[in-house]
Amino acid sequence: MSIESLHIVWIYPDLLSTYGDRGNLLILTRRAQQRGLPVEVSEIRSDQPLPNSADIYLIGGGEDGPQALGAQRLLADGGLHRAVAQGSVVFAVCAGYQMLGHSFFAKGTKCAGLGLLDLYSDRGPSRAVGELAGEIDPRLGLPALSGFENHGGRTHLGPEVAPLARVSTGVGNDGNTEGAWRGKLLGTYSHGPALARNPALADLLLRWALGINALPPLDDTWSDRLRAERAEAIAVRS
Ligand code: GLN
Repeated sequence: MSIESLHIVWIYPDLLSTYGDRGNLLILTRRAQQRGLPVEVSEIRSDQPLPNSADIYLIGGGEDGPQALGAQRLLADGGLHRAVAQGSVVFAVCAGYQMLGHSFFAKGTKCAGLGLLDLYSDRGPSRAVGELAGEIDPRLGLPALSGFENHGGRTHLGPEVAPLARVSTGVGNDGNTEGAWRGKLLGTYSHGPALARNPALADLLLRWALGINALPPLDDTWSDRLRAERAEAIAVRS
């Protein structure tokens, strides 16, 4: 492994942590430790400065009000932009994902995003709630995405990002594609938490952070069961 310990930052848990998104931090930490890699975790509240040079930054989902406040504070702080410029990994869910784009809507008002991903979000005709599944961009080499979504926004991708997945169940960005990625930045509408339901995605983030192509496999019996159970639920319903 190319670095001696992994520094993971959980951004603004006081504002952005819905539907168990904290589980992403727990899964990532655990999967690194199981490979013998020490992990340092920083939980940065919205009144604290963001470290500039951690290996992985995680942002969760949130209601419109906390989302708008979180974006304002991240823009004012500038730490995430500095980290991305230095090559840090960013994984963002739902409100966190929308915030990485150019703009999003919160409580009927257009808000400035961080502009780190070439996309913007507006509001859809109805709230997207339920299972979210799809085939992930083959270039990422991952099994199907499994998740849960609950959002009012719809997201439109520009040419500088690629969709994370093609939707087979649920809405994601717009009913066709779900999430987006560019370089080592990846956003998704998937809660669940996403990394518990998609451990291969957790390992992708670890590989990006470590600059390696493969990691020793882990016993994924429980996440395999969870994925199978959710796939079965979708099949029964449709
Ligand atoms: N407030 C955003 C929306 O409704 C994000 C919701 C969420 O993070 N679950 O689109």
